[in-house]
Amino acid sequence: MSKSDLRSLTLEKLGAELEALGERPFRARQIFSWLHSKYVLDIDEMTDISKGLREQLKIKFTLNNIKIVEKISSMEDNTVKYLFDIGDDIVIESVLMRYSYGNAVCISSQAGCRMGCTFCASTTGGLERDLTAGEMAQQIYEIQKDTGERVSNVVIMGSGEPLDNFDNVMDFLEIIHDKHGTGLSHRHITLSTCGLTDKIYRLAEKQLQITLAISLHAPNDDIRQKTMPVALRYSFDSVLKAAKDYANTTKRRVTFEYALIQGVNDSTENALELASRLRGIMCHVNLIPVNDVAEANYIRSSEKSIKAFAHTLSENNIETTIRRRLGSDINAACGQLRKRYKENRGG
Ligand code: SAH
Repeated sequence: MSKSDLRSLTLEKLGAELEALGERPFRARQIFSWLHSKYVLDIDEMTDISKGLREQLKIKFTLNNIKIVEKISSMEDNTVKYLFDIGDDIVIESVLMRYSYGNAVCISSQAGCRMGCTFCASTTGGLERDLTAGEMAQQIYEIQKDTGERVSNVVIMGSGEPLDNFDNVMDFLEIIHDKHGTGLSHRHITLSTCGLTDKIYRLAEKQLQITLAISLHAPNDDIRQKTMPVALRYSFDSVLKAAKDYANTTKRRVTFEYALIQGVNDSTENALELASRLRGIMCHVNLIPVNDVAEANYIRSSEKSIKAFAHTLSENNIETTIRRRLGSDINAACGQLRKRYKENRGG
């Protein structure tokens, strides 16, 4: 039997494991804080845990440590892209973005992705595997260690579809929020999904205070189905209905992400249709200039049409922002660095 990753256990699950070993609850808190507050990489580093218990832990558990293999800093801004080795020749990427309000890390939730969005570099090789909760948390921990700076915000917007790895992502959210660990506020976490509606309902039931971002990228089914195969499974209407339910249940405003692609989804007519469809939903639209991806010959909308699109939405009372493009010189967009690394290595 292969050993399971100790770092992926929530405090509650860790407590149950230790209880089974005849240990008291405070032991679980001690071990949890070694992992999620002191960020140790070896069970033997837990110096106030008896050697006997450490040996017992090592029989059943291991620490699946991810390692930095490459780091690229942007010359344009303070963005840093990290490539991590997660074992078995698989790499994932994370991005550190420095804002005036603090440091944000964009983490991956899967190695690769099986959603198939035509503009996205993460999906071209399919899904390699789900990441564990510990591997998601460790992307943040290792970046904090590397920079010596605290991470205050997390966006689950790197490679992968987080709701396609639902249980591990839920454990990750619990671990990262736990006050015995890093204690990150859920209000500082954004989860981005391509719109798996059944999972959005399940997430809403949990009543977490995280921000839900939905990648819409189109004002209707026709256009959405051309770029996002997931739109064939979940209709535009059903995605909006789930978003509305999420906002009503959690009282949190939903973000709709909309990457503007020239001639595909960026006309005034598209903006008007989008505005009319979003009316009545507590939401906000984040417009993203699409990043170039080698295999898709999509062209980024011009600055002028992005501004015009934003203007049309605002005029129709839809709150709109345009995303700043950080780290464009270092391939900071989803999956781009990982993809190039694999190509160069011939993998
Ligand atoms: N699977 C999730 C999260 C990962 S992608 C989702 O679909 O939301 C994070 C965001 O980046 C999504 O909005 C995605 O559509 C967008 N994205 C992917 N490739 C892009 C590109 N080439 N240019 C701009 N945005 C892109």
